Amino acid sequence: MKVIVIGAGLGGLTLAHGLRRAGIDVAVYEQDAASGRPQGVSLHVDERGRSALRACLPPAPFAMVEATMGGPREQTLKLSDVDGELAVTGVQPSLARPGRQVHRPLLRAVLLTDLDDVVGFGAEFTRFEQRADGTVQVWFADGSTDTADVLVGADGIGSAVRRHHLPDVRVVDTGRRMIMGATPLRAVLGTGLPGLIGDSPASAHIGGTTMVVAVLRFTESPLAARRRWLPALRRTAAEIEDYVMWALPATREPTMELPPALRTIIGEAWPDFTVTLRGGMIPRPPVWPARPVTLLGDAIHPAPGFGGNLAMQDARHLCEALAEAHRGRLGLLDAIGGYEDTMRRNGFTKVGA
Ligand SMILES: Cc1cc2nc3c(=O)[nH]c(=O)nc-3n(C[C@H](O)[C@H](O)[C@H](O)COP(=O)(O)OP(=O)(O)OC[C@H]3O[C@@H](n4cnc5c(N)ncnc54)[C@H](O)[C@@H]3O)c2cc1C
Repeated sequence: MKVIVIGAGLGGLTLAHGLRRAGIDVAVYEQDAASGRPQGVSLHVDERGRSALRACLPPAPFAMVEATMGGPREQTLKLSDVDGELAVTGVQPSLARPGRQVHRPLLRAVLLTDLDDVVGFGAEFTRFEQRADGTVQVWFADGSTDTADVLVGADGIGSAVRRHHLPDVRVVDTGRRMIMGATPLRAVLGTGLPGLIGDSPASAHIGGTTMVVAVLRFTESPLAARRRWLPALRRTAAEIEDYVMWALPATREPTMELPPALRTIIGEAWPDFTVTLRGGMIPRPPVWPARPVTLLGDAIHPAPGFGGNLAMQDARHLCEALAEAHRGRLGLLDAIGGYEDTMRRNGFTKVGA
């Protein structure tokens, strides 16, 4: 069996590892260059994402991811301005999302390790056709083509695979805009905030502005973890340091209302890691018949804030289904249909579920 995956994001790369471990021939095509696009510095990984990585990655890259996660995040603290000083004034049970933070560019580098013969960069998918023999032929912007038994659209919220496969499905702009950034921990130690909140994320609602902050202190330094687990890792782990990630609604000049500690965190941020997020969602479409073309992650159910976990979870389930078909235990379309039922159940549940 051969599988073509469009998109070398979190879902596509997790799937590629899993398929290769299952003995399935896989080719990933990515439109960007190997350096990729800025997607922020931090990713909150919950049990869905973590167990997908455990299932799909070879042991050494998975150990590298585990070793470099931040500490466990069990609760979200409430921060308030008390007499001009920031203080923890409680916990916010409704915001609890157990999990741990990972450094996103490091995770991407780990996911790309040992996939040189699988991932083709600078390859923009344009269209596909299902052929009479059941295989799928895909075309790229430079006119080249490839053919496989299965095509997977892991090409994110603007998915070109989805546009061809399910043309009635539309992305709806939710109107929500967030600014997310990250700041070196060393630059804000003097504010006292890192000691105050530990490994827990914290939310401050002050003067009409809500700001979320969280610290990532690497459990093991990326440099030491690389030496121990993944010497083949290309990225220079030495340049990666502990940081504070933060998020704010993108409204007009909210920062003046914030206490000095939070303003310092914003002021000292790495400019290259500050991004504005546009909220997009896809209303649950009617069930579609299984074909040798399928979708995962943001391409079919974008979910700002936890979409990465859903994409990796989809990758795991799709990999398990295709492995069953590869071993002859399920027909290919039954395997894809079963995966899509599970993906629809997981991906279109209520936000945050
Ligand atoms: C700043 C920020 C913070 C976030 N924080 C979190 C978080 O803490 N936890 C969480 O779970 N989620 C988080 N998310 C959401 C998460 O990043 C996405 O849900 C996740 O990346 C989706 O994974 P994916 O594999 O479906 O798509 P993507 O990661 O978007 O990958 C899609 C890939 O497909 C490629 N592509 C697109 N079109 C084509 C084409 N025509 N041909 C070839 N390649 C193509 C793109 O270049 C891209 O590399 C965050 C997002 C942002 C931007």
